[in-house]
Amino acid sequence: MRSIIPDYLTEALGDVEPDSSGHPAAYIPELATADPERLAAVVATVDGEVYGAGDTGTAFTIQSISKPFAYALALADRGFDPVLAKVGVEPSGEAFNEVSLESGTGRPLNPMINAGAITVHALAGPAGATPAERVERVVRGLSAFAGRRLTTDEAVCASEMEHAHRNLAIAHMLRSHGILTEDPRAVVDGYTRQCSVLVTARDLALMAATLANRGVNPLTGEQVVREPVVRQVLSVMFTCGMYDAAGDWATQVGIPAKSGVAGGLIGALPGQIGIATFSPRLDPHGNSVRGVSLFERFSSDMGMHVMEVPAAARAVVRSNHVLGGGPGAVRVFQLQGGIGFAGAERVVRETLDTAPAEARVAFDLTRVHAIDDVARRMLLEVTRRLTLDGHEVYLVDPESVLPDPDPGDGGRVTVVGNAEEAAP
Ligand code: GLN
Repeated sequence: MRSIIPDYLTEALGDVEPDSSGHPAAYIPELATADPERLAAVVATVDGEVYGAGDTGTAFTIQSISKPFAYALALADRGFDPVLAKVGVEPSGEAFNEVSLESGTGRPLNPMINAGAITVHALAGPAGATPAERVERVVRGLSAFAGRRLTTDEAVCASEMEHAHRNLAIAHMLRSHGILTEDPRAVVDGYTRQCSVLVTARDLALMAATLANRGVNPLTGEQVVREPVVRQVLSVMFTCGMYDAAGDWATQVGIPAKSGVAGGLIGALPGQIGIATFSPRLDPHGNSVRGVSLFERFSSDMGMHVMEVPAAARAVVRSNHVLGGGPGAVRVFQLQGGIGFAGAERVVRETLDTAPAEARVAFDLTRVHAIDDVARRMLLEVTRRLTLDGHEVYLVDPESVLPDPDPGDGGRVTVVGNAEEAAP
């Protein structure tokens, strides 16, 4: 049997193919020569499966899709505070190349517009790095996200530099406000080089999947950036990634995303997949026309809106029963699934409602596959309070989904391999 996913992607490409509206970006002369008919869609899962259809191996320049990744690198290299002091996180509601600086401070509103991205480029690598070292840091970082060494398109870079008056104006403004302390021309040159990195739709899907996978590249296993950085980047992509179309996008598509003027578009669905599309004709916002249609379709066909979640964890408590009888009877709460705050609250409530009469109480985690940090602390606090109430508490946890269970302060819990071991 053939996988259904590439067939689905091929069908989706077929549906958008006839749409020839929009125009390839013209302000970078070299980009205007791109073949406007190219079309690709790729989905990469967080465990490293890659599905694609169309021109998945065609190379094009990453352009603004580099912005969230360079932002991630700057946050990782310099820490949050120094970066936030220079670049905000507020949607601008304006075009990507608008000179939107916060009045008073001159701080760019967010890292997805050019003013922010130019500033971010200067923050990649250690303080005091040379322009060449900054570029190398960014290209190496983008490569780590993609899982292979990427190169730059010198022709596109030179072509954009020749017409970079607007970005140079922005950089000089930033320099006059003291947001940039480096030579504005060198920073714009580096930023333009960053935008000229060549990628394929497949590379972009893996870069997005690395964000979806908490910063770990699904193929190489490399932790490119840490989780707090990923959370920050995805949040900014969600609110600012599509420029002045960000609100429409957040409500209709609902996937943190970023577009580039060469026609690329990425989306990262946390915990699930990275998606990339490629089609050079752009709408008036500067987003790929067919790419936007594809994402709208993916979101509705596959239920990918981040605000759309699976049915509530109704059955975190799979069963609540008593094992054995007499003084050796054990009250067993059998839990299941992945447990977060809402799931742990169910367990707290079930325990309180039951008010176990039995001296022995066991939480059976055999069918639990994950417990997040707050749920772990809540479960341990329940075990602590049960101990204080005079119960003997057991965790049935053969696979250590809750490692080092220390309920603290007067609590005691015994880990056993199965519920029967809790009986005398
Ligand atoms: N290099 C382009 C610029 O700075 C990137 C813009 C984009 O992709 N939206 O103008």
